[in-house]
Amino acid sequence: MRCNIFSEEHEIFRRSVRNFVEKEIKPYATEWDEEGNFPVEIFKRLGELGFLGIKYPEKYGGSGLDFSYETVFIEEMARGGSLGMLLAILVQTDMATPAIYHFGTEEQKEKFLIPALKGEKIFAIGVTEPGAGSDVANIKTSARREGDYYIVNGSKTFITNGAIADYITLAVKTDPKKKHRGISLLIFDTKTEGFSIGSHIKKMGNWASNTAELFFDNCKVPAENLIGEENMGFYYIMKGFETERLSGVVMAQAAAEYALEIAINYAKEREAFGQKIINFQILRHRLVDLITEVEISKRFLYYVIDKYDSGEDTLTEITMAKLWIGELSIKVANEALQFLGGYGYTRDYPIERILRDVRLYTIGGGTSEIMREILGKKLLS
Ligand SMILES: Cc1cc2nc3c(=O)[nH]c(=O)nc-3n(C[C@H](O)[C@H](O)[C@H](O)COP(=O)(O)OP(=O)(O)OC[C@H]3O[C@@H](n4cnc5c(N)ncnc54)[C@H](O)[C@@H]3O)c2cc1C
Repeated sequence: MRCNIFSEEHEIFRRSVRNFVEKEIKPYATEWDEEGNFPVEIFKRLGELGFLGIKYPEKYGGSGLDFSYETVFIEEMARGGSLGMLLAILVQTDMATPAIYHFGTEEQKEKFLIPALKGEKIFAIGVTEPGAGSDVANIKTSARREGDYYIVNGSKTFITNGAIADYITLAVKTDPKKKHRGISLLIFDTKTEGFSIGSHIKKMGNWASNTAELFFDNCKVPAENLIGEENMGFYYIMKGFETERLSGVVMAQAAAEYALEIAINYAKEREAFGQKIINFQILRHRLVDLITEVEISKRFLYYVIDKYDSGEDTLTEITMAKLWIGELSIKVANEALQFLGGYGYTRDYPIERILRDVRLYTIGGGTSEIMREILGKKLLS
């Protein structure tokens, strides 16, 4: 396995993403964050450029590339300064649609996956409920089969894209007597009668992405919208977590690198006591420590991506990377802010936003405690 996964083709692709980010993301990132949303047309624009279907086959409108290209996309997008917008995009490409691709029917791929990769339709993933987050098997939202329909009742919370989604990849209980063996995944159309969106959840960071509470009151979902087999949903969710967590880790690593770059540039410019602050050995040494940690985690991450792309089982390594890099991104952003002194604490510089945004990375998509639990259980076997 390699620790450097990029070729000349990757660099050409990187330049095209960077070009787009410089022109169409960076100038607006602060405004989107302050306003608490971003134009949904970004989905369409990314679809037109082929950025939503990087790793999907060409027959569904994708580019048929591997995760190393997705990595380039995420790294460059993260540098655009709107991690909230990027979160919303990754929910579409890496969290809500993979289950349809891996386990859905050809009809479902035609009807739902293709428009999602074009950016014409927006997806959310609905797993978390007020009473069940880490404990996915304990979800209560029910889907009772009646003829050719499922009748869905219950609620979801913390759903990214929840207020703007056309469809939700929805986790439901189809057998309430069972825990994880009673869960199924449905493709839920948000135009369905009985569906409603609760109040906008105000968050610490990732302001540009909307996070919503959702309610389902006797919603009729066609049985043909079932993904894969009934009661196999927990397995599909766990399988999906692999890609979801990997893309989240790439975002965390890229955010840490971006934060560090801001600190280094600032230290080279800012003067105190008649000299650039980078001349203070204590600050240089602190930067060296951070650069070393970030470089080591990046090489491990590239090794994990290479292994993932080879088709080998990478669950353990992805779990380790999520745990390590999620926590590292918070440490790096926090320490990077210190280099900017009082300016770092203001909203005139992007560093306070990065710190608020990366705080999510030890919580969303599985907490650090759950990552330790997954890895710790291996010690018992
Ligand atoms: C901004 C944001 C966006 C999100 N987007 C989505 C989305 O699009 N779709 C979606 O379905 N969900 C989404 N989530 C939900 C997210 O995945 C959950 O918040 C997360 O899984 C944790 O669940 P919880 O908040 O219910 O915490 P809980 O599960 O209640 O955990 C509370 C605390 O207890 C700890 N804990 C729990 N179980 C154990 C254990 N066995 N051992 C040790 N410690 C434990 C946790 O680590 C945590 O520290 C989002 C959350 C946020 C904040």
